[in-house]
Amino acid sequence: MLKFLKQVSDYTKETVQAAKYIGQGLAVTFDHMQRRPVTVQYPYEKLIPSERFRGRIHFEFDKCISCEVCVRVCPINLPVVDWEFNAETKKKKLNHYSIDFGVCIFCGNCVEYCPTNCLSMTEEYELSTYDRHELNYDSVALGRLPYKVTEDPMVTPLREFAYLPKGVFEPHDLPAGSQRAGLRPEEIVETEK
Ligand code: SF4
Ligand code: SF4
Repeated sequence: MLKFLKQVSDYTKETVQAAKYIGQGLAVTFDHMQRRPVTVQYPYEKLIPSERFRGRIHFEFDKCISCEVCVRVCPINLPVVDWEFNAETKKKKLNHYSIDFGVCIFCGNCVEYCPTNCLSMTEEYELSTYDRHELNYDSVALGRLPYKVTEDPMVTPLREFAYLPKGVFEPHDLPAGSQRAGLRPEEIVETEK
């Protein structure tokens, strides 16, 4: 009799424990039903990079004065500024400029300190290649206008989930004209007035 009662007691305990674990599992499931989705159907859908995203550097050859400030402020002296002195004009003449994105850490120092603003960070992040030497961009490659997720007709741009307005769970319902994830600098200034 005692053995039977112990068996019933053990069975009841296990049943209660199993119900508890099922409840815990369902709690996680229900919790995730309240969260925003994290799946992006890349490459058909792409997230719009945030305002201050540091992607591939854009270079404007005509603006460069070959001062080499970008080289000095770079943690690894990466930009290669190939110039010669023009005796006639008594000015430096830029021949070639290159940055190797296989080595660059995208810190943005060169962009920050360039006195003529000929460098800028773009939102381009798809730089993968089969050969790392192809990441050494010359002035022509650096001068190419950046790829923009929002301007590619083949791609559905998605606003980063963290930037969706409160209560919005569906990034596909991006309002018309929403180009970026965050507010533009002038909009931030407006909100502070
Ligand atoms: S800091 Fe700017 S202007 Fe000076 S060499 Fe570098 S890219 Fe050219
Ligand atoms: S982003 Fe940073 S690491 Fe890359 S070239 Fe500029 S200063 Fe150097």
